[in-house]
Formats: sequence, C-alpha cells, structure tokens
Amino acid sequence: MVDDNLKNEVESLRVEINRLKSKKDIVPHRHCMNCGIAIPPDKQFCSKKCEDEWNTLLRRKKMNMYIWMIFLVILIIILMASMGGL
Ligand SMILES: [Zn+2]
Repeated sequence: MVDDNLKNEVESLRVEINRLKSKKDIVPHRHCMNCGIAIPPDKQFCSKKCEDEWNTLLRRKKMNMYIWMIFLVILIIILMASMGGL
C-alpha cells in the first residue's frame, strides 16, 4: 500500500522532470504582442497588420486615460467649488 503510493509519487515526479526538460528544449521565441502567436525573438509582432492593430488599441487606451483624467479634474473642481460655497 505504502509502496504503491511511493511508486506513484516517484512516477509523477519523473513525469514532471521530463516535462521541465522538454520545456528547456523549446527554441527561444516570443509572442506577438497583439495576437500572441509564437514569433522570432527579434520581432514584436507577427505581421504589420498586428502592429497596426496594437498601436490603434494603445492609442485608444491612452485616449481613454486622458478622458478619465479630464473627468477627474472636472469632478475635483466641482467638489472644490461646492465646498467653497460658490
Ligand atoms: Zn499577431
């Protein structure tokens, strides 16, 4: 009974070690910033289309941040004005 458990433990450890070993053998690569597929390590995107898409998304994110900041500033001004009794 105990021996069986130990055997299973050892077996699962061996599987884990093999898994880690095979992971090391994978050629160096990175993932496309936009779609996530594997690409050569010297590139950031798999295609020009993906790069364009990513830049559009980034610009939209920045735009959203600006809108929020403006919104917050307006909110603070309104709060201060109402506290100041204007
Ligand atoms: Zn891509």
